[in-house]
Amino acid sequence: MQRERITDQIFVFRSNLYAQVTAGVVLTSEGAVLIDTLLYPEESLRIRRFIEVGLGSKVRYVINTHFHADHTTGACLFPDAQVIAHKLCAEILATRGRESLQRMKASGPEFQEVSLTLPNITFEDELVLELGETRFRLRESPGHSPDSIVCLVEGEEVLFAADTVMPIPYFVDGNSSDLEQSLARLLERDYENIVQGHGDIILRGEVSEKIKSDLRYLHCLKDGVAQALEADRTDIEAAITLEDCGKSQVLLNGIVTQLHQLNIRALVKEFRSPPNELASDASEESERRQEWPQKKLI
Ligand SMILES: [Zn+2]
Repeated sequence: MQRERITDQIFVFRSNLYAQVTAGVVLTSEGAVLIDTLLYPEESLRIRRFIEVGLGSKVRYVINTHFHADHTTGACLFPDAQVIAHKLCAEILATRGRESLQRMKASGPEFQEVSLTLPNITFEDELVLELGETRFRLRESPGHSPDSIVCLVEGEEVLFAADTVMPIPYFVDGNSSDLEQSLARLLERDYENIVQGHGDIILRGEVSEKIKSDLRYLHCLKDGVAQALEADRTDIEAAITLEDCGKSQVLLNGIVTQLHQLNIRALVKEFRSPPNELASDASEESERRQEWPQKKLI
């Protein structure tokens, strides 16, 4: 696991074990706030040791940016903390999350000690958290998933964007139009850094171009899928490459190629299904999609 200090009080951790998923620690005079908790207990416990032994602090709040297991599984290792999330995140964790955890436990010994921790503080649009001298502004940001949020550390102007910002936009468990709107909203403010849900930290000078490039990717993908369907192509996944849409295959150690193909499949399904059919297919499809965080699938 990599650890990076981005300001006096903010640290970012990046997993070596699962898809470069990130977590953040913000240190205040009244304790620490942990934004996401990673997937493997081994790494979550290393973060806890760093906070308690290295910083001499304790986690007061855990923020779940959305329900996906690679962001929430470690929450149970901070039993004294309050857990904050979007209302939908709590609902999804209580149902599909519970079932998914059972499957994870059956998949290997790493997760035997893990239990489900449900958020006990939830919100819908926006929530402001103050701890010590630090103010956190949490805001809904749907698209990657319906329950996604972003968290701004005010003053430092560091945005924990979670999976709203990834090396490529990924909306298979959410909705591409919502993601476009959420990304466009990020252009309304300047940030010192954006911490992506996976991969490298985005620096001040790179923020605007990164968001615009993500929006271009989404537009290109939608246009490409619509045109391919119009032309009755049978090889749509091969027909629209990542490079066509301005992204590189090497991002996230190549995982992005799979994410790109899953995006295409999701759009094909969306464009082909009349709205009434889409509604009934959605729950069945999302059952399958939520498997993504498990390591065997990437
Ligand atoms: Zn996610």
